[in-house]
Amino acid sequence: MSENQDKNEVHNETEEYEDVCYICRRPEHVAGKMIHIQDRICICSDCMQKTFDTMSGGGINFNDMINMNLGKMPNISMINLSDFAGGIPESQKLKKKKPKEKKETPVLDIHSIPAPHRIKASLDEYVVGQEHAKKVMSVAVYNHYKRVMSDVEDGVEIEKSNMLMIGPTGCGKTYLVKTLARLLDVPLAITDATSLTEAGYIGDDIESVVSKLLAAADNDVERAEHGIIFIDEIDKIAKKRNTNQRDVSGESVQQGMLKLLEGAEVEVPVGASSKNAMVPMTTVDTKNILFICGGAFPELEEIIKERLNKESSIGFQADLKDKYDKDENLLQQVAVEDVRKFGMIPEFLGRLPVMFALEALTEDMLVRILSEPKNAIIKQYQKLLAMDEVQLIFEDGALHAIAAKAKEKKVGARALRAIIEEFMLDIMYEIPKDDNIGTITITRDYIEKKGGPQIQMRGIPALPERAGASG
Ligand code: ADP
Repeated sequence: MSENQDKNEVHNETEEYEDVCYICRRPEHVAGKMIHIQDRICICSDCMQKTFDTMSGGGINFNDMINMNLGKMPNISMINLSDFAGGIPESQKLKKKKPKEKKETPVLDIHSIPAPHRIKASLDEYVVGQEHAKKVMSVAVYNHYKRVMSDVEDGVEIEKSNMLMIGPTGCGKTYLVKTLARLLDVPLAITDATSLTEAGYIGDDIESVVSKLLAAADNDVERAEHGIIFIDEIDKIAKKRNTNQRDVSGESVQQGMLKLLEGAEVEVPVGASSKNAMVPMTTVDTKNILFICGGAFPELEEIIKERLNKESSIGFQADLKDKYDKDENLLQQVAVEDVRKFGMIPEFLGRLPVMFALEALTEDMLVRILSEPKNAIIKQYQKLLAMDEVQLIFEDGALHAIAAKAKEKKVGARALRAIIEEFMLDIMYEIPKDDNIGTITITRDYIEKKGGPQIQMRGIPALPERAGASG
């Protein structure tokens, strides 16, 4: 191969490759433009400068200069070509990393602060019911990001709108926050309050929540400072009653969180959850971080009931004592004093000014959760079967039967998936066996284990035959 051909080949190499410095081995995107010395050899400007510095400084370090041929000075070629006894390396190029795929543009952009009704409309697409919670959250988030962008020069500083969410398990607390963060395209950290303890005790330091957020923001401090921190199971750090021991995971954690909730500069480890000498630290200001605390607060209903009974037993409006006993949504009437009685300290509650309760999910809501949201479970199964060109239909009665079963389990919407998986297993196993199946209808009887699903073959209009679950 002639020299010219060789040269062309090197220069014609696709743009996908970049040069690598022969001395320090750094690629071009790190070390900057390379100086070509030979066709296949290049040196970054740092190494070139170092070489000059060493030579002009008088003291030549032969270790540094191991590849340099000083005898050839002042020739431009300072590389000792005799080192390449084994021939010039075949390739001195590295394949460039592909640029990360462009992220889809967020539905909402915090810089143009979407109006509350737009935030709520976006939440509506995913979260069923919880109208009050969605409304309160939309307004709080709207105000929060307005606050972030406002200046305080006129002396009016808008207060933070940290939130306290109260609602039974599985009613969508975490799901609401997750959806919100995704729609706003802000980083989100979810922590469990039960794992937190006062600094110095076994468990996570309170500041570790900020470090999680930093990780969620890909170590981008600025992004993290506009993020959301969701602290679940907040009721577990209520003040312990009747205890003489130091309450390191209860009241002390609440005390320790005060500073964070209000806004403080905290030193957090980068890329680790605990501080130690080997981990670099950075400072994150929590002033603009939105804190959302959530918890089920069991027994809070009793406290509310007690208060309501007391209020209504005075004066002319005295009511029956068991009036509130069957009220499923008693939590909606929660007041700050109830939560304080539960064991949250007043300073803590003062820093969570937006307090609201979520509804317990009714059977009808569960039916809607099954089929309405953008990524509803049923839609997921329909998509799966559509890939086998099979149409999946759920009868209304079947949906209600699933919802009723889920309601019995008392774990909210979380039970739905488990129930559906259980009876879809046979279908997902059997259907791909037979190419002739065109439509499958899930009936109430099938859910209640009284019969099988209705199966309709391709090309045959209607086949009243009912097949058993396993074939
Ligand atoms: P928790 O209130 O205990 O935090 P989650 O938010 O984790 O409950 O809810 C569990 C799952 O149930 C979610 O992942 C979501 O799929 C579903 N879910 C719960 N509530 C709703 C709702 N209102 N709308 C749609 N899906 C819901």
